[in-house]
Amino acid sequence: MTQTQPLLGRVALVTGASGGLGSSFARALAAAGADVAVHYRSGGDEAASVAAGVREAGRRAIEVQADLTDASAVAGMFGEIVERLGPVDILVANAGVDGTRGKAWELSAEDWRRTIDINLFGTYHCAREALVGMVPRRTGVICNVTSTHESVPWGGYSAYTASKAAVAMMTKTMALEAAEHGVRLLCLAPGAIKTPINHEVWEDPKQLADLRSKIPMRRMAEPDEIARLLVHLVSDDASYVTGTTIVADGGLMLHAEFLEGG
Ligand code: NAD
Repeated sequence: MTQTQPLLGRVALVTGASGGLGSSFARALAAAGADVAVHYRSGGDEAASVAAGVREAGRRAIEVQADLTDASAVAGMFGEIVERLGPVDILVANAGVDGTRGKAWELSAEDWRRTIDINLFGTYHCAREALVGMVPRRTGVICNVTSTHESVPWGGYSAYTASKAAVAMMTKTMALEAAEHGVRLLCLAPGAIKTPINHEVWEDPKQLADLRSKIPMRRMAEPDEIARLLVHLVSDDASYVTGTTIVADGGLMLHAEFLEGG
């Protein structure tokens, strides 16, 4: 039988947890029994209110601030979490940006590098620090948040798609390396979820209709739907799952344009 608090006694770090998916992840992990480090880059007030919610659920919470593109800041953040909450058992590497929109030849190398820096290097720095702590302890789970665009091309977002594909392959390799040390790594790939990252789309009826036409379920997801799945993936319910991507996309990758005709 599935426990009601499958994560009791575990320490989780959620990056980019001041809003969007990250704040839902933090709340769901706390409801499942985990103590939570709420990472933010900017938006300290929002992070404080997410941490307050974790405490209301009866768990310990701290807010930690870091620019994840800075390896030494990430190392410092892990040190602070270990000192204040204990070793990290669960890392949810959620922070990310979709970057400047533009065709590949319209963007500057600097635009491109910035997106790769945050989405790929930021995730790498966090995964590396987590593994340094988890491998000797022979326990831990890392969930890197990618996207359906780790494998579906997306016009205007060549750096974003490249970064998510790279995170997926990095995760597979790290999972291969860490498996015999008792550590699992996987990716969670959301489809279209209602968060600040895509508010222009869901606030505009025309863009929303276009997006829904691409999704067989004909709707975006709420962040909490993805957070419920995350809890299972980082719990012992998924103890034999490693090195793969779990997709939650309402069927987006099924090619809705082939529902009829073709
Ligand atoms: P969001 O914009 O609300 O959250 C992104 C978070 O990343 C923010 O908290 C931001 O502060 C943080 N961040 C950005 N740059 C950072 C940096 N340099 N250092 C530290 N933190 C930084 O958007 P969201 O939708 O909640 O996105 C969360 C994750 O889910 C992202 O990785 C995104 O690519 C992924 N995703 C979202 C969707 C969707 O439809 N919302 C779909 C697929 C994948």
